[in-house]
Amino acid sequence: MKPASFDYLRVHSVEEALTALHDGPEDSKIIAGGQSLVPLLNFRLAEPALLIDINDLHELSFVRRVGGALRIGALTRHSTLEKSAVVRDGWPLLQEAVRFVAHPQIRSRGTIGGSVAHADSAAELPVALAALDAEFVTRSVSGSRRIPWRDFFLGPMTTALEPGELLVEVRVPLLRKSHGHAFVEHTRRNGDFALAGAGVVLDLNSDRRCSRISVALLGAAPTPVRATDAEDCLLGAVITEERAARAAKMAAEAGSPSGDLHGSVAYHRSLLEVVVRRAILAANLRVQEP
Ligand code: FAD
Repeated sequence: MKPASFDYLRVHSVEEALTALHDGPEDSKIIAGGQSLVPLLNFRLAEPALLIDINDLHELSFVRRVGGALRIGALTRHSTLEKSAVVRDGWPLLQEAVRFVAHPQIRSRGTIGGSVAHADSAAELPVALAALDAEFVTRSVSGSRRIPWRDFFLGPMTTALEPGELLVEVRVPLLRKSHGHAFVEHTRRNGDFALAGAGVVLDLNSDRRCSRISVALLGAAPTPVRATDAEDCLLGAVITEERAARAAKMAAEAGSPSGDLHGSVAYHRSLLEVVVRRAILAANLRVQEP
């Protein structure tokens, strides 16, 4: 199929993008990597009057450590995250998760900002960012906002971005060097969108009891969610196979996956239980000696 006709504007500064968003038609759309938007245009599921192309905004393409925290520009390609030494050394969960996104060709164009703003309920990066307690920085002609992940993802393909707002940066807090991490997912074929997934970050204290844990789920709800019952079950405990299995069962029972052509609700729930258990055990094994 072919898209409906639209106007096209390639902007050269953030200010120009913000002005275009403010002054342009209400249904203007940003285009970044185009890997989600172009299929929507081709199927005419989106028919914006104006496309604002931000691919020349090189100031939005960066990965840096600032005061220990991670800052990623919205236009940073998935392939850049995949190879970044800063991400590998401080926030390896993000690198593990991004490698599950589609195929190399798509990762060379797709951007973190596009993935977050698109908010597909089967996308890996929003889930990894929920496990990492990320926040999102937006700009518009009237100023800037910092939005924690919990307040950002409102529903499938629905976010707290207001009309006229551009997502400019993703911020991830510092993690202890010793932390363990794992992103585990189940797909029917390599590169497909996942049917279930879990991102886990944890830390142990000197007697190997869990002192910090996040368990974020893909496929348990229309947005990324944290499995708080499972986190409570693990906090303060030594993570044994039995404890991980109990926490995983809690996560799966608390989730509300939907059935689809790939399987029933019960099937999706059982996948969730498996990926959560595996992610907890893998993260636990990766914790460096406290
Ligand atoms: P675009 O397509 O350019 O934009 C997506 C949406 O975000 C649009 O609504 C756009 O207006 C908005 N947007 C983009 N940037 C900004 C910004 N800075 N501020 C405000 N709004 C913005 N993704 C996965 O997570 N996992 C997968 O397994 C996966 N598999 C895929 C398989 C195929 C075959 C394809 C084609 C895509 C797949 N994707 C997958 C999607 C891909 O990862 C996209 O790159 C990503 O979801 C969107 O990034 P983008 O830069 O291409 O965004």
